[in-house]
Formats: sequence, structure tokens, C-alpha cells
Amino acid sequence: MLATDRVAKTRTAVPVAIAHGDGIGPEIMDATLAILEAAGAQIDARPIEIGERVYRSGLSSGIGDEALETLSATRLLLKAPITTPQGGGYKSLNVTIRKMYGLYANVRPARAMAPFVPTLHPSMDMVIVRENEEDVYGGIEHRQTADVTQCLKLITRSGSERIVRYAFEYARAHGRKRVSCFTKDNIMKITDGLFHRVFTEIAREYPEIENEHLIVDIGAARLATQPERFDVVVLPNLYGDILSDIAAELCGSVGMAGSANIGDDIAMFEAIHGSAPDIAGQGIANPSGLLNAAVMMLGHIGQGTIAKRIQDAWLCTIEEGVHTRDIFGAQSTRCVGTEEFASAVIERLGNTPQRLASPEIGRCVLPEQPVATQVAAPVKERRGVDIFIDWNEGKPEQLAERLLAVDAQPMKLAMITNRGTQVWPRASASTRCVDHWRCRFQSDERVDGASIARLMAAVESLGLETIKCEGLYTFDGVAGYSLGQGQ
Ligand code: NAD
Repeated sequence: MLATDRVAKTRTAVPVAIAHGDGIGPEIMDATLAILEAAGAQIDARPIEIGERVYRSGLSSGIGDEALETLSATRLLLKAPITTPQGGGYKSLNVTIRKMYGLYANVRPARAMAPFVPTLHPSMDMVIVRENEEDVYGGIEHRQTADVTQCLKLITRSGSERIVRYAFEYARAHGRKRVSCFTKDNIMKITDGLFHRVFTEIAREYPEIENEHLIVDIGAARLATQPERFDVVVLPNLYGDILSDIAAELCGSVGMAGSANIGDDIAMFEAIHGSAPDIAGQGIANPSGLLNAAVMMLGHIGQGTIAKRIQDAWLCTIEEGVHTRDIFGAQSTRCVGTEEFASAVIERLGNTPQRLASPEIGRCVLPEQPVATQVAAPVKERRGVDIFIDWNEGKPEQLAERLLAVDAQPMKLAMITNRGTQVWPRASASTRCVDHWRCRFQSDERVDGASIARLMAAVESLGLETIKCEGLYTFDGVAGYSLGQGQ
């Protein structure tokens, strides 16, 4: 009998797609489902197959139509880790699922279990809320010249509003006191600047919750050295990806933490660790990460009382020193395998932890209101164009001389930069130039599309290769483009 068949199927049971995954996945999923069943979780488990076997059968996404159908019907997925086969051509299943179903928020609690799990930061207890769909994860990358590659970083107002609001709602629902935001808006003034601005705007709607913004470098340094000072941290995708792993590691073991990926009406819950092929099949894996993900899932679907009962029993097990090998140490009393650990949790259902705090497990659903702030559409005007040129034949002033000969009306050549540093009309003699030039043509008046097309054609007719162009727009009179002097 499948472990999935053992979980209660009553009329109130909530259908959940269950993926057993690869490596240690099936072992920790069976242990988790046994605990859910014993605790009376009202879920109707529907197994799906995803991961290594599906990849190897020729599906580069790692998920087939049948699994997608089940997922579309349940709108909930409890997922054990999967193995991504080495080599090219395979897509990240997590990225596919996140994008396909709009799972915009990645929520990862990172709480120390000291003294039972050794850590340098015994009082750390933070939750990282990572934006999950935007930033450099669009995979929009290009090689543009022999030397230069680029990756597009996309940050939207609507996406930033959604994730920041989610972080504040999460803080409110879980009794958290402060939300911190990290960005690099001293350098990326437009993209990270937007995320920061939205954070400041939305923070005003939650006066009972403290807020702060830190530049990501100092924020990351403080998170790594004084994690106890953080409560909820909201981050754009890339910073969140990196810092959530650091936070998990600081707690003492990657085997302990669960995470939630939340969309408008669909959610995926999983452990943060991978499929640990090095210990697969040995019955020694720690099921805590997946169990904690399942606890988050129960909270999410309104079964918070059952979730709390499981959390309490798990904390009692940890407190009493019944530990799997990965966390076995001075405070441990018994070294157990995966199944035995699950039995120990089941035996303690109904007990209350004595030393470790057991927070309430709130729901976190966004309020029923339009997520995007209704602002009047700005007046958008094109004032010119940045034309990027692949050229490797001389000095900036020689390129400028050729471009100045072009009839660019109503624009004129305003500047040339190389890797963001101005090299014409003024330049530093020591700037190292590569084969990638941004040539800015600007006007004081509105510029139409036909003028841009004529200019591009005229530049090409000089034998210069235009790689791409970016329009220079003002929005309500404010420049929507950087001035090009990166620090
Ligand atoms: P990993 O997290 O699987 O393992 C790192 C180390 O931690 C290993 O020594 C492992 O034994 C240990 N470990 C992890 N989970 C444990 C647990 N529950 N109990 C005890 N020890 C545990 O990372 P990896 O080795 O880099 O990746 C292995 C595979 O997992 C790769 O194919 C990777 O692509 C995949 N992966 C999947 C996910 C996912 O499905 N969400 C996430 C990360 C990695």
C-alpha cells in the first residue's frame, strides 16, 4: 500500500498532489505522510510523478501532462526533492512550476533550534520572503559580441507590490514585528530603486509593523553575523535565493527547513534541501525539512490546529534529543533513522515542548483587494535612443567621428559609453574598452519611431553593426533611463 493511501480521506479532505521525488525523497515523504495521517490531517493525497525518471524519459521539463493535470486540479503540491540530471537541455522543474503557475512568493523560515542543534546564533528566528518570478530569472540572456554577454534584469511595479504586500501580510498574520528590505539601489537606481520605493510606499499601510531598508551588501553582512536582529526580510529574487540558503545554513542544518511557494490560488511546499543522493536508500535522512513544509501547507489550507499539533510533537522530539545523524551532537540522546524519527514524532503528538518556542501557524492569503496600486498611467515620451554597436577598430573618438557624420535629426549624438563608463565626449585615458559601445542619441523634443528606424539604418549603412537599441523615455517628465556612470 502506498503511503499516500494511508492519509485520511474524509469528505472535508483537501486534495493535494504528492510528489515523492528522487534520492531520499521517497523516504522522507513516507515519513512525513505517516505523521500527517497520525495527526489527523484532512488531506486527500494524489501521487504524481515528476523528476529524474520523467527527465530521462525524454521530457526536458521533468513533468508530464498527467502530473500537470493533477496539479491544475488540486492547486496544491507537497513536493519531495528531485534530482536534476547533469548535462545540458534539462530545465529546472522548480523554475518551470513557479512560472507556469505564477508562484510569486517564496517563503523560508529560518529558526535556530539551540541548544539542540548547534548554531552560532541560538536566538535567530527569521523568515525570508523572496520574490520568485522576476529579476534575472527570466532567463533572457544574449551573447552580443565576441567579448560581451548580457542578462536582462526585469523588476516590475506590480510584481514588487505583490511581494512586498505579501511580506507585510505575512508579518501581520504571524505576529512578526518588523520587515526589512535589501536592495542595491545605490547602483541599480531604476530597477532596485523601484523595489525600494514600492517597499517604502507599502510599509506606510502597516504602521504597526516596523520597517527598514538596507543596501544588500551591508544587509547580507549583518544577516550573516547578527541574524537574530532580523524578523521578516523581503528581497528581490537573486538576493533572496542567495541569502535564504545562508540563513538556513546559519541555523545549523539544511535538513531542517521547509519552504512555501505561493501563488494567487496555487501553492507548492517543499524542503529546502536537495535529493541527497549520497545518503539515498540508507534510511538515515532527516525528514524534518519536508515535515516543516507540510506544516506550512496545513496552516495555508486552514488546518492550523493540526499543523500546530505536529509542530509541537516535532519540537518535543528535537528537545528530547531524538535526532537523525545529520544533527546528532552533544545534546542528542538517541541516533535514529528516518522511520524511527517519524515514529518518535507520532508518539509525541499531543505533547507540548518545554524549551523551544512553538509559534502559531497562521494563514497567509493576500486580502481581497486589487494588488496593484491604481495610479494614473504616466505620460510617456520618447526622447531618443541608445544604439549598441559591436565595434573593435579604434578609439572612442574615431567612432564618434563616424556617428557625427550621420543625419540623426531631431536627435544628436550625446554620449558614448563602454561597459557603462563614459568614453566620449569626455573620457579617462585608463578606461579599458571592449567591443560593445552604447551610443546615445537624444533630443529635447518628442522623437517618433520612424526617426529611430532611419537612424538605425543610417548607422548600419556606415558599416557599423547595431546589436540592439533601447528607447529613452521620460515618464511624467522624469527620465526612465540611467545616466550610464556605474560605480
Ligand atoms: P543536497 O541538499 O541534496 O545535499 C547537500 C548535503 O546535505 C549532502 O551531504 C546531503 O547528504 C545533506 N542533506 C541534504 N538533505 C538532508 C537530509 N534531509 N538529511 C540529512 N542530510 C541531508 O544538495 P546537492 O548534493 O547539491 O544536490 C543533490 C541533488 O538535489 C541535485 O540533483 C540537485 O539538482 C537537487 N536539488 C533539488 C532541489 C529541489 O528539488 N528543490 C533543491 C536543491 C537541489
